[in-house]
Amino acid sequence: MSSPPEAEDGIPAASAVPECPHCRKPKPLCVCEDVRPIESRIDLLILQHPQEQDRALGTARLTAMHFDRAVLKIGLSWPSLSRALGRTVADPSRWAVLYLGSAKAADLDTTNEVVAINRKGELEQGQRAILADIEGVVLLDGTWSQAKALWWRNPWMLKCQRLILGPSHPSRYGQLRREPRRDGLSTIEAAALVLSRLENRPEIAETLNASFAQMLKRYREVQEEQPKLAPKRPKRDFRRRRR
Ligand SMILES: [Zn+2]
Repeated sequence: MSSPPEAEDGIPAASAVPECPHCRKPKPLCVCEDVRPIESRIDLLILQHPQEQDRALGTARLTAMHFDRAVLKIGLSWPSLSRALGRTVADPSRWAVLYLGSAKAADLDTTNEVVAINRKGELEQGQRAILADIEGVVLLDGTWSQAKALWWRNPWMLKCQRLILGPSHPSRYGQLRREPRRDGLSTIEAAALVLSRLENRPEIAETLNASFAQMLKRYREVQEEQPKLAPKRPKRDFRRRRR
């Protein structure tokens, strides 16, 4: 693992608080001891935009910690899927990327929560066969605009199967963080939905969502005790310049 980027958490006074070496959150916000390992058939690659600075509410590291083979990379661009992953991928078309373009699952003729689309944003024919063939998933971690930047800077993603989500439940973030992704889900919730559906194992979603719920519970507790570590306002409001 690379060393943590310095002084980028954006939280006042957080530097005085020890950080967990695993999730990189300030210790009071860490829920690592509750992380239960998940064995998954499908591999996970999480690409995090370097400006995704929300250590307090971010979920990329927490997601990756659940899986032995999950890879988390921080950066803007990589020359290929194999280079991003750190091992050779024979057929990138068997990897899926969670696509954040204009296509919305609600506009397509499907009630599925995980939907394969083509380059035109249309429903792919043979959903079941396509989803069954996927061996890995790329998740883009960041705000919608950061994730879009990652998409445009990594043209190898064009070779991957595009998936979009039509979650039947809103994000558990609630008011804490608005629209973290195009589909409204946190990275850990997106991983929960995609992997549980692709593997047909609801327990994957249960484990990841329980972890997320635990993280949010801890956050709300810390809000009361140490509000500087867990700001009340959503991050973007918090940082908005006031006149
Ligand atoms: Zn931790």
